[in-house]
Amino acid sequence: MILLGMDGFSQKYERYVIPTYGRFDLDLVRGSGTHVWDVQGRNYLDFGGGIAVCSLGHAHPLVTEAVSRQAATLVHTSNLYRTGPQAELAQRLVEITGPGKVFFCNSGAEANEGLIKLTRKFGSATGRFGMITFKNSFHGRTMAGISATGQEKVKLGFAPLLEGFAHAELGNIASVREAMTPQTAAVLVEPVQGEGGIHIGSAQFLRELRAFCDENDLLLLFDEVQCGLGRTGDLCGWKSIAQDVQPDGVSWAKGIANGFPLGAFWVATRPLSDGGLLCDLLGPGTHGTTYGGNPVSCVAGLAVLDVIQAENLLENVLTMGARLTDALRSMILSTGLENATVRGLGLIIGLELPVGLPVGFAARDLVLALQEEGLLVIPAGDRVVRFLPPLNVSADEIDAAVEIVRRTVPRVYSSTAAAQNA
Ligand code: PLP
Repeated sequence: MILLGMDGFSQKYERYVIPTYGRFDLDLVRGSGTHVWDVQGRNYLDFGGGIAVCSLGHAHPLVTEAVSRQAATLVHTSNLYRTGPQAELAQRLVEITGPGKVFFCNSGAEANEGLIKLTRKFGSATGRFGMITFKNSFHGRTMAGISATGQEKVKLGFAPLLEGFAHAELGNIASVREAMTPQTAAVLVEPVQGEGGIHIGSAQFLRELRAFCDENDLLLLFDEVQCGLGRTGDLCGWKSIAQDVQPDGVSWAKGIANGFPLGAFWVATRPLSDGGLLCDLLGPGTHGTTYGGNPVSCVAGLAVLDVIQAENLLENVLTMGARLTDALRSMILSTGLENATVRGLGLIIGLELPVGLPVGFAARDLVLALQEEGLLVIPAGDRVVRFLPPLNVSADEIDAAVEIVRRTVPRVYSSTAAAQNA
């Protein structure tokens, strides 16, 4: 048992943990539903959900029960053998997404890594290996992930990157055409960009991408690591935008297993010119992972899908998402922040602060001030504050969060603006 002092973990982190994260000064010890508690016993309303991970909130009893039962039965076997939970979850994901097959890994970066390897294998017969991704996108922190990501800051100091990635503009099909080379084999897009600040690809754009990929024999791949499996109000996040578009591959992680490490990618049953199927292209010996799809994470994934269905949570996402979005919009109007914007789909919502902010009023400053008032939210870049509460968040919790935002934003804004003008 780890004995905790009231002074938290900061000294040990400083001394023993590699400092890759700009962490907040907060030591968490317990969670329940939409609440977490710090080492001093202070309660916070958690509208970050571990960055869109805790779809059912913390310590959901059905996840706890499923995981405890599985932990007492069989934790790990490697992928040399079959297990029931992996088979069940693969079937459920195929039923949700469409005819195809699933590979399980441990994280979002690995899920995208798999789609990138699929692209290479798909293109290898015709000498193609390139991938078009988008500016402001985020696809993970592995070398392939940062090569695919359309943000310079993640690449600094890590050259040489993987070859073959070009970044077009989300929403601009002409820029996609320009980015195409004879080596291009796929387009990878987040239907809703999360880390980049909640930017939504339009229905027309997703349709244009599908047509462009069909015309040029490219794979259309959706990174649904952050926006997938219910967060937008549809288990297929892109269907919240365009019901009629069907991708060739999809990656997931984050919300898939409520916090248990699990990632996955789905590949369509698309016929290939050699008579094979795309979903069988990564054959024995081409790809693998020791932990991926372990039975404990997979039963957590099954519990998440069961609860979303049994408790009709997709409808809750739409209702609560509208309630939060409307309340944030009226908050903006009543607090002198008219040039701020609120955008989102379901419960992936961004509040974008206006340009020309007073010093001390960037997204991170506001996130810190909200944390001091008892609300956890997540910054995305300098100007966007993300709200990612659990899919089962209640109306009272939304109202409580909005109340904190309503009293904190004007206070921070007016004090930083006054300091700037002094
Ligand atoms: N793809 C998207 C869209 C993400 O938002 C993230 C993480 O934020 C990733 C991939 C990487 O996932 P992970 O951190 O699990 O590797």
